[in-house]
Amino acid sequence: MRELRGIGASPGGAAGPVHRLAPPPALPPAPATVDPSAEKTAVRAAVLAVAADLTRRADAAPDTTAAEVLRAQVMMAQDETLIDAADVAIDGGTDAPHAITDVLAVHRAAFEAAGGYLAERVSDLDDLRDRLVAACLGLPMPGVPDPGRPFLLIARDLAPADTAGLDPALVLGLVTAEGGPTSHTAILARTLGIPAVVRCAGILDVADGTLVSLDGSTGVVATGVSAETATGVNAARLAEIERRARSHGPGRTADGHPVALLANIGSARDLTGEVEGVGLFRTELLYLDRSDPPSHEEQVAAYREVFAALPGRKVVVRTLDAGADKPLPFLRLAGEPNPALGIRGLRVARQTPSVLTTQLGAIAVAAAAEDAEVWVMTPMVATAAEASAFAVSCREHGLSTAGVMIEVPAAALRAGQVLRDVGFLSIGTNDLSQYTFAADRMCGDLAELLDPWQPALIGLIASCAAAGVEAGKPVGVCGESAADPDFALVLAGLGITSLSMAPRSIPAVRESLAAHTLDECRQIAKAALAADTPEAARAAVRR
Ligand code: PEP
Ligand code: MG
Repeated sequence: MRELRGIGASPGGAAGPVHRLAPPPALPPAPATVDPSAEKTAVRAAVLAVAADLTRRADAAPDTTAAEVLRAQVMMAQDETLIDAADVAIDGGTDAPHAITDVLAVHRAAFEAAGGYLAERVSDLDDLRDRLVAACLGLPMPGVPDPGRPFLLIARDLAPADTAGLDPALVLGLVTAEGGPTSHTAILARTLGIPAVVRCAGILDVADGTLVSLDGSTGVVATGVSAETATGVNAARLAEIERRARSHGPGRTADGHPVALLANIGSARDLTGEVEGVGLFRTELLYLDRSDPPSHEEQVAAYREVFAALPGRKVVVRTLDAGADKPLPFLRLAGEPNPALGIRGLRVARQTPSVLTTQLGAIAVAAAAEDAEVWVMTPMVATAAEASAFAVSCREHGLSTAGVMIEVPAAALRAGQVLRDVGFLSIGTNDLSQYTFAADRMCGDLAELLDPWQPALIGLIASCAAAGVEAGKPVGVCGESAADPDFALVLAGLGITSLSMAPRSIPAVRESLAAHTLDECRQIAKAALAADTPEAARAAVRR
């Protein structure tokens, strides 16, 4: 047996024979002569076939995140400028597969040069090229193999089209050599509930069929395990899933202290099963891939759909979080040298106030028409003055419960003042980590700085929670860290009042809280705060 190490990207254990992703098609030598009109027809036929295949996968995708990612790829495939550029290349004497490859190489270079979010989309472009070339050559679509038995999928990295179409009954787990903890692979694996390890060096050297086990929490991958070990790992996972499926009810510590367990959603489709409420309704999905903002009516309909599903329950709507890792074409934001530090989140309202006022108006109309308890919050607040101005706008629209996200260290340091004019805080630990450690959240190489167990991050969360206790106002956490069952104990012990996460993560957190008293959570939080490193914090909490 050999042990490899990667980064745990989707929790849970899984074991089985490994099978690798079908390789991309090899480009044949360029022909000496071509018939331009036949080659142009071949490009169009390939675009049609690939767009149809990706659309079918998007329609079958089990959640909105996966479907949106695939639809964005369909739009890329159907981009007229791509087809026109391929025509030009064909007129220059090349065939369809080479024309597609050359044109997408130009796009790829531009994405890489842009850096950040766009550079992470390079794997989407490569995937598109491979699909189009395979379609031109009459080869099967590259992608997930079908060995006829449940297996662990291994790959250099996975394109969204591959991950979104995965059947969790067949693909027991994923191990990739590249990718980061915030890559599509990781996010989609978590939403699908498939255990995953990313950035696992050496995994591509493991032969197909080898029995391997993975731990999606610790990132440990064991190759060449016995059949008994594999059966044991999968049986333990099944038992865990079954036990958790039976768990229900509100979040409570063992002695009954309430910690609300809420859902992070992008639309009503993400609401699976019974939840106490929604702690983060990301409204960006409505605005993605469009050249005009959604109309008032369109927004009212989308918000009503969510509110109608949760009568009498809390729904925290986040106003549009555009910019940086979520670029939205309709805003036509000027190119910024450093978008994560530029016009994003609430700052968009500085130059386009109507985006915020239209949205608040639509939320108010939808809230009045349904029975949900609607709260509104805004992202990327840096000062108490910004928080107060947002609360005033909400009141002007008849929205009485306004809060802000704590994602910028300046706001965390002045949490008491920020809370003065708003009703609640919600800590976005994904961005708070990024800005506290000056570490791009998309950068897999900086994963250890983005670890929520970093004592500096825990210290900032502690001061926000303390400000909430002093003001008698709720302070929740809605970043990915809220889904870690051990970290949830630290958060409860610090005085955090709600935890919001992907619905699938709720049972494990509920179980963890129910096994500890509030006093134990406080001891645990104290131990984590006193640690010098994330490893020491984890170890102290486990002790
Ligand atoms: C966060 O930053 O923690 C957060 C919840 O917001 P998003 O991940 O959407 O930026
Ligand atoms: Mg954020």
